Amino acid sequence: MKIYYKIDDFLDARSKLNSKKIILVPTMGSIHEGHISLINKAKLYADIVIVTIFINPIQFNSSIDYDSYPRSIEEDKKTLEKNGVDILFCPSTPEIYPEKFQTSVNVRLFSEVLEGKFRKGHMEGVATIVTKLFNLVRPDFAIFGEKDFQQLLLIKSFVQDLNIPVKIISGETIRDNEGLALSSRNEKLTNNEKTQAIQIIKSLNLGVEKIRSGEKESDKIIKKIRDYLEDFNLIQIEYISIRDVNNFEKVHQIDRDVIVLIAAFVGKTRLIDNLIYRKKNG
Ligand code: AMP
Repeated sequence: MKIYYKIDDFLDARSKLNSKKIILVPTMGSIHEGHISLINKAKLYADIVIVTIFINPIQFNSSIDYDSYPRSIEEDKKTLEKNGVDILFCPSTPEIYPEKFQTSVNVRLFSEVLEGKFRKGHMEGVATIVTKLFNLVRPDFAIFGEKDFQQLLLIKSFVQDLNIPVKIISGETIRDNEGLALSSRNEKLTNNEKTQAIQIIKSLNLGVEKIRSGEKESDKIIKKIRDYLEDFNLIQIEYISIRDVNNFEKVHQIDRDVIVLIAAFVGKTRLIDNLIYRKKNG
């Protein structure tokens, strides 16, 4: 695996790959099995798998959250190498955001709801860094996890709006044995918090089962999930929402494929998760 830290060095290497199909896997590091599953799926699409590790300051709405985000670059390098990544690109913050930097990519629908509403500037920060990575890497494909579903739809949306010639692939959410969606942030959970964090997917399953058994009113499903989670004292819900899985519109009567999304603090750690309900399976 080749590793590049400087944009110029990376671009030099990239210019020698013009005849190859390239797929990009953007990450913020602290590599876990969720990232690895994206890398394994990525190999099916292209000749060269390029992983980026960049903890993007402009997508954090608190500097404490940014400073305390887990970092494990040396271990990450070994894991990525072992998993057959061709190129790792980890640029520095000043190279990505020089002092004069003043441009941002804003996708209105996504910056105003859920992750965009509760983490001001987050969606814009994501859209901006992903656009920059697309311009630097010029991949044929890029792959993103369904775990961050709003992010996935945001990216699909601006790629279409701005005619960016990258095909967006998605990867399913990887969970631990107990159902907790893998996340770099899970490292910060204490044992007690982890036991409660597992309830998040349980509550989502409960909600989707209720839809399958005939309840079609979103408000009732949301209340059911909220009531279930209320019993767990370390969980503080930020939002629960039911949206159209394709266009992300809020759904009141569940008459199509929907996604149930949650954000909650477990202790001091903010987690997000989601579960899709498909009508044909209902
Ligand atoms: P991150 O490093 O958290 O920014 O994530 C990098 C990529 O990995 C994003 O596309 C995430 O959606 C994806 N990802 C994170 N956690 C998981 C997971 N548990 N399963 C699948 N993909 C994931």
